[in-house]
Amino acid sequence: MPENRALPPLCADTPVRYLKGVGPKTAARFEKLGILTLAGLLCHYPRKYQDFSHPYGIAEAPFDTECVIRAEVMAKQGLRHISGGRSLVRATAGDETAVLEISWFNNPYAADRLELGQSYYFEGLAEGSMLRRRMINPIVRTEAQVCAAPLMAVYPQTEGLSSGQIAKCIAQLLPHAELLPEPLPAEMLQKYRLLGKAEAVRAIHCPRSEEEAYAARRRLIYEELLILQLGIVRMKERNVTAAGAPMREISPAPFWRSLPFAPTRAQRNAAAEILAGMAGPHPMNRLLQGDVGSGKTLVAAAAIWAAVQNGYQAALLAPTEILAAQHAETLSKTLAPFNIRVALLTGGMRAAEKRTTLSAVRAGEADLVIGTHALLSQGVEFARLGLAVIDEQHRFGVRQRGLLAEKAKAPHLLVMSATPIPRTLGLLLYGDLEISVLDELPPGRTPVKTRYINGARRKDLYGFLAQEIVAGHQVYIVCPAIEENPALGLSAVKTYYEQTAKALLPAARIGLLHGKLKPKEKAAVMEDFKAGRLDALVSTTVIEVGVDVPNATVMVIENAERYGLSALHQLRGRVGRGAAESWCFLVSDHESDAVKERLHFLCGTADGFAVAQYDLEHRGPGDFFGSRQHGLPDLQIADLMTDSRTLQAAQSEAIALLADDPALCAPGHALLAQGVASLFEKAGALN
Ligand code: ADP
Ligand code: MG
Repeated sequence: MPENRALPPLCADTPVRYLKGVGPKTAARFEKLGILTLAGLLCHYPRKYQDFSHPYGIAEAPFDTECVIRAEVMAKQGLRHISGGRSLVRATAGDETAVLEISWFNNPYAADRLELGQSYYFEGLAEGSMLRRRMINPIVRTEAQVCAAPLMAVYPQTEGLSSGQIAKCIAQLLPHAELLPEPLPAEMLQKYRLLGKAEAVRAIHCPRSEEEAYAARRRLIYEELLILQLGIVRMKERNVTAAGAPMREISPAPFWRSLPFAPTRAQRNAAAEILAGMAGPHPMNRLLQGDVGSGKTLVAAAAIWAAVQNGYQAALLAPTEILAAQHAETLSKTLAPFNIRVALLTGGMRAAEKRTTLSAVRAGEADLVIGTHALLSQGVEFARLGLAVIDEQHRFGVRQRGLLAEKAKAPHLLVMSATPIPRTLGLLLYGDLEISVLDELPPGRTPVKTRYINGARRKDLYGFLAQEIVAGHQVYIVCPAIEENPALGLSAVKTYYEQTAKALLPAARIGLLHGKLKPKEKAAVMEDFKAGRLDALVSTTVIEVGVDVPNATVMVIENAERYGLSALHQLRGRVGRGAAESWCFLVSDHESDAVKERLHFLCGTADGFAVAQYDLEHRGPGDFFGSRQHGLPDLQIADLMTDSRTLQAAQSEAIALLADDPALCAPGHALLAQGVASLFEKAGALN
């Protein structure tokens, strides 16, 4: 595009490539960040600010940390060409305390606008020694620039697109911030003293003061949470209006008697609550919360049994094909004494097979249908769905929960999760959701011994694995997926399987499981492992949730630093399911103190609630409130934990707004309706 071309008729959904300096390559990088349009770019908010108003003197600047130094330019060296076709420009700056050597690579004009004898602000990594510091490729700002905008926005960046480049593109757009229409009603802006949209966007990118940055954030957070709440409240209301699937309350005694073991007290209580809920006047909407291994499946089985006794069908939604297949197998056995007909429906099934299953479901010839998200597709129709169960609900979006519930007038809904949510937040997110808790493990379990080791001890570890295998036990080895970046030092699962696992366990039968396998192949590997035809299973985290093989006694997790504690706890929960002593090894060479502390913490506790609490307080990778954990859409600027007061305000406003305009069809609400649609659209995809 010619440089001098003015911006085209600019509107919010103009693609970013119409911006000056943005070619197809850069546009593709923006796309990686989820930015397609000018509006998207304007709403790419800073991650934090670099504060230029409190610069360091040269000697006092922290070592090897990004910081701002103010110093006077004393000398400049002209452009030099160096090896590799690169160019180098250098300058020397100083203050009373020390000297700062500055180099710019491949930025030939970097020093041109610097005047000798003038002071500037340099932002970058300050390396070197106490008296002679170095900065490479710093950002330079003048006194006047800092005065006008003391806080410099730092953006989430991606490979080939730095925060600085993003800032330049956004700066071009800021004079056009009015492009963004105002979605909030005027009364609301007044009531909460919020900045207007355009003003807030301008201020968040280029605040004149800390107060202004705060006010901008507050406004944008409010908007995002209002839209979230509008979506949630609407979904909930759909649920309570209908009468549901009325059931008689029946005693679960015949079901309990049919089992080879006694249910725990917690399982009995939870099942009683659920059966009572299903006999109530409204559709049940209940969360069954229980740590990994607490036996949630059995409670679900009791509920399914009761629904079928009442003449209804039940559906069970699982996040992975492996888990769906496992549930189909165990529940077929558990429910066999009652002639309950179980069908399995997954995305990987052959078309003919699928057709047969679908018509059985439609004709009411299947009592329980178990499946992955394939269950949610339009072709799936039930004769009389009375109960929908969602296992590992944190792996699904709220939207999917809604979709399953829409398969009948208003079936009873039971969602199960090992990840506890704090009660107050649960109420804000799920409102009328009731909670049953399994606070007890089945008898005879010994806690899993957890050890944190580094890669240097891998050989010893494999020696131990060999012993366990000889003793007749099985082991899991989890490592990063295939697509992962080798530059990060992560060994992809295939290489690991060939070069590490097979090499160090030459006598063992080892299987390989990862997301790129076809569903049939996955199922075959899992089947072999369950049946004891494999001693070890090298896998990505596809086995994270739910899988139950009681003979497995060791879980090895490579690159353990990459996972949040809740995910690690889930993985660990795959062992310790039988009577034998079980082990979990967290392997990591990561040096950061935070990582070490996190992994040590997990070694010291077996309690899922404590683990979730720790995640909550420390916000590691796979944050507790990342979308993976609660199934809500990814939020851009708001944070459900720290912004919970705003969330509360947003909830009451959403309820009030929907009371007046339930379908959000008033012209003044069109933008809000659009916002809800796009936020939940994004959350619709399964991870
Ligand atoms: P989770 O709550 O993690 O989904 P599962 O439902 O997979 O746990 O149950 C874990 C294991 O405990 C299974 O092997 C299951 O058969 C077993 N189990 C469940 N309830 C009992 C019980 N009351 N007594 C003995 N074993 C049980
Ligand atoms: Mg489970």
